[in-house]
Amino acid sequence: MRHTFAETVETDLQEKLQRPSAHQLRRLYEVNDEAVRKKATRQGLWIAVAVYILFSVNDILLIPDVAAYAVAARVLLGTAALILLETQIYRNVAIKWLDATSAAALVLGFAVWVVPAVGTTHTQSLSYYMVFGTIFMMGANLFFSFRFRLSVLASSAVLITFLVSLAAFWPGDMYVLAFGTFYISCFVFTAYVNWKLNRERYNVFLNAQEARTQQKEAALRGEALLRMSNTDYLTGLENRRAVDQRLRQYWNGWLTDGKGFAAILADVDFFKKYNDAYGHQEGDRCLIQVASAIREAIEPYMGSIGRYGGEEFIILAPVDSREGVVALSEAIRQTVEKLDLVHEERRDGTAIVTVSVGGAFTREQNGAKLEKIIHEADRALYNAKASGRNCARVFDPADPETSDESENIAALLKIAVKQDLVSLVYQPIVSLTGRQSTSVEALMRLRTLDDIMIPPSLFIPIAERTGTILELGRWVIRTVCRDLLVDNHVETASVNVSPIQLKTPGFAASVAAILYETGVAGNRLAFEITEGLEMEIHSDLLRCVNDLKTLGIKIWLDDFGTGFAGLSWLRLIDFDTVKIDRSFLHDSHTPRGKTMLQDIIGLIRHRGPKILIEGVETEEQLLLLRELKIDAVQGYHVGRPASVGSFRHGMADVGGFSGSVAVARRKPGSRG
Ligand code: C2E
Ligand code: CA
Ligand code: CA
Repeated sequence: MRHTFAETVETDLQEKLQRPSAHQLRRLYEVNDEAVRKKATRQGLWIAVAVYILFSVNDILLIPDVAAYAVAARVLLGTAALILLETQIYRNVAIKWLDATSAAALVLGFAVWVVPAVGTTHTQSLSYYMVFGTIFMMGANLFFSFRFRLSVLASSAVLITFLVSLAAFWPGDMYVLAFGTFYISCFVFTAYVNWKLNRERYNVFLNAQEARTQQKEAALRGEALLRMSNTDYLTGLENRRAVDQRLRQYWNGWLTDGKGFAAILADVDFFKKYNDAYGHQEGDRCLIQVASAIREAIEPYMGSIGRYGGEEFIILAPVDSREGVVALSEAIRQTVEKLDLVHEERRDGTAIVTVSVGGAFTREQNGAKLEKIIHEADRALYNAKASGRNCARVFDPADPETSDESENIAALLKIAVKQDLVSLVYQPIVSLTGRQSTSVEALMRLRTLDDIMIPPSLFIPIAERTGTILELGRWVIRTVCRDLLVDNHVETASVNVSPIQLKTPGFAASVAAILYETGVAGNRLAFEITEGLEMEIHSDLLRCVNDLKTLGIKIWLDDFGTGFAGLSWLRLIDFDTVKIDRSFLHDSHTPRGKTMLQDIIGLIRHRGPKILIEGVETEEQLLLLRELKIDAVQGYHVGRPASVGSFRHGMADVGGFSGSVAVARRKPGSRG
């Protein structure tokens, strides 16, 4: 069996993020910033040599009788050191050799000066002059950035040379005592400071190293999350959003280069019965097997497959003849049939798992839209189901049999507001941060003239496509204000707003008009936006968001994590709250799933907005979210969507919510 995607991502990350051992770190430190350190050593030695030679003036003034030797020694040694250093740099030797040259130059520099100096007859002057010897010690310990061992070695050599020459020179007991202790304490102090400096340098290096690792880790996690948001966790196939993305690519290819393609939907027959009979684990296994079998079967057609919803798969392939699509659809059907997975509970004469397949392909037509091809595949699939399942059908525009359900819904939507066919239910949003504010999300409901409920997943896309979402959207906002906000039944309410609305000129103005008309302050409303199909965020949309913010309305990001664009939306819009899609919570019972959830939370926290997690269905989930310090939650466990009545009386505390939950559970209209 496949590993879950989260597991794969985590192992992948661990492999890429191997941390170096202490030994490796040391080695890394040794070669760290070679170029910079070489430059510093070179500069240092040139300055040191220049100062050293300039000291000739002091030689001439203080010890004139031996000055000739001392000056000659200074010039010769200084020049030799620089020539050696430049040769080393030319040969590009390691930094430790440049440091060694500089250290040797320091020690010898002191020696070749002190040896002729002690021969002077100007003992008084020399006794003062000796004090300058400590500069060589400071040079070794503080001026250059040698490693600790080299510094101590060089400064000890200077100290020993001094002590030896002092023994030879012996200007008097008191002098030897005073200067001897002065040199020794100078050695101890500078060596100590050097040791501290070196430790500090190493720590800075370690911190920089850690920062680099963390940055890399953050980048890798970001990538992994992006990849994950495109992948169906169960089957490892592309998920719906990724498929939408691919669909758009195909569609653009068709529009610009006339490259036709087919969209095929395959739906596992009687899958609910399978799940009920064999359990969810078996159900999952069945889906995985079906998915990988179809994936193999469509390879010769250069097709790609994604999971489109529960037990529905979508196949896209560069096939654009009727015969081609029929053949491909039939191949998919047969592939699943050949798997021979037992399904004895379906009771329709077949006892194995099968799929119904509906296909459509691009053809010349006026004003065609991307959604249309999916819609046609959907109708073909419907046809296949109606023809007794386990069969493949391809959409035929000339076939009157393919009656158009969505046309009916579109017509219904046009009269919905006037005929009172739309209504709202409200689902509590519960704050976990202590402050018990009362807040709800408004969810739209639609029924037909003969009282059949149509799920939002069906009618919202149609309303968006046909534009009736604009009228419905205004109606929703007005109703929420009138139902709950005007009379303070709840403090705040959130409303789902589709990107289509935000892109329509004048939307913000119409919202302002509703606020004015109802006398509700803008800051009591939040608009939930779900990232749309299009990757790029329209500038009109951004402008509208800004206008809405000016009205005080909060902007929330809905269903975060399911979409491709989530991360870029988060970058472009300053959301007040981000709602994390419930799929992440529902995966959180595994350690990997929990890590993923935490990663997503971390990613959002990093950017600042509040975090709300949807779909809390159990007490364990609620406990986990408290532990993760989530700001607010929503879900059947803390409150089902309920009609306005449940919120109208005494909703001042969470106890009120539980009351509404009880009411809501009995409402037939509240679905999920
Ligand atoms: P959504 O905004 O993500 O709304 C949450 C959906 O999850 C609702 O489904 C709700 O009933 C359901 N739900 C709530 N708690 C739970 C839970 O604990 N577990 C599970 N499994 N589900 C839960 P609903 O009402 O069917 O709405 C579906 C979608 O339709 C909404 O998703 C939203 O995108 C859209 N929608 C609903 N009303 C409107 C509207 O007025 N305007 C627009 N543009 N879209 C709307
Ligand atoms: Ca929502
Ligand atoms: Ca949502």
